[in-house]
Amino acid sequence: MAEVSAEASSGFDPRRHVPAPAELDGRIIAITGASEGIGRAVARACAQHGATVVLIGRNQRKLEAVQNEIEAERPGSTTVAVLDLERALAGDYDRLAGAVLERFGRLDGLLHNAAILGTLTPIEHYDVPTWCRVLHVNLTAAFALTQVLLPALRRSADASILYTSSGVGRRGKAYWGAYAVSKFGIEGLAQVLSAELSNIAPIRVNTLNPGPTRTRMRAQAYPAENPAKLRTPESLVGAYLALLGPASRGISGGSFDAQ
Ligand code: NDP
Repeated sequence: MAEVSAEASSGFDPRRHVPAPAELDGRIIAITGASEGIGRAVARACAQHGATVVLIGRNQRKLEAVQNEIEAERPGSTTVAVLDLERALAGDYDRLAGAVLERFGRLDGLLHNAAILGTLTPIEHYDVPTWCRVLHVNLTAAFALTQVLLPALRRSADASILYTSSGVGRRGKAYWGAYAVSKFGIEGLAQVLSAELSNIAPIRVNTLNPGPTRTRMRAQAYPAENPAKLRTPESLVGAYLALLGPASRGISGGSFDAQ
């Protein structure tokens, strides 16, 4: 049977979404990798549209700089949670989940955005420790964070889990190694979780591929490219808000594109 994309089956296309000013009013949204790039832009947009944002990352100084930036426009709209996805242990995840529940009593949105590129190398020569690190940060940590935050997400009337995918996580590409495989894993994680939660909790689970975007990671992967030709993170936030907020209510198990 031919595969039917979520867009085709529902008519929902996050690329066309223009968020209303107060679209995320009252929502609590957690974002990993909020210190830079796409995560920073989405965090800012979520706050601008009314959400309270939990900025998750490994570098407190960078997170606080983003926090100051956002709070200059929307005072009291953020909180910082330091979690190094490479090194965090079970207790660190539990503490973060406990703090979210204690402070907010629930979670309405969770964007898994943090990732590392690893190296662009043939599988035949891929360094095993690098492979393990990439799979851990990009996939296993996303699983672990989802798991500990599910109790808080279950307390929301309309929760959304969004995993950041990639084109190379939907069709394999030579030399993209562990990064590509981790994104294939993210697609699988989202599908399995979406199926498990259907009919038992109002939590939708989807993936979004931002496409080529002007960030540090893109420059690392394509050092010779002219960044001016790429979309900026800020230009993609409508698609993220569509999938994190009420616009995507009832849509789950989909793989979407931001471009
Ligand atoms: P950036 O490199 O700009 O940002 C990556 C973010 O992940 C940073 O905030 C970084 O934190 C964080 N991070 C990395 N390692 C860890 C860790 N161990 N613990 C916690 N946080 C960590 O990349 P992008 O903004 O481009 O990427 C965002 C997402 O989009 C990723 O999932 C990426 O795979 C995906 N993507 C990007 C594309 C693009 O063209 N840019 C294309 C397709 C997918 P710190 O600032 O501390 O380093």
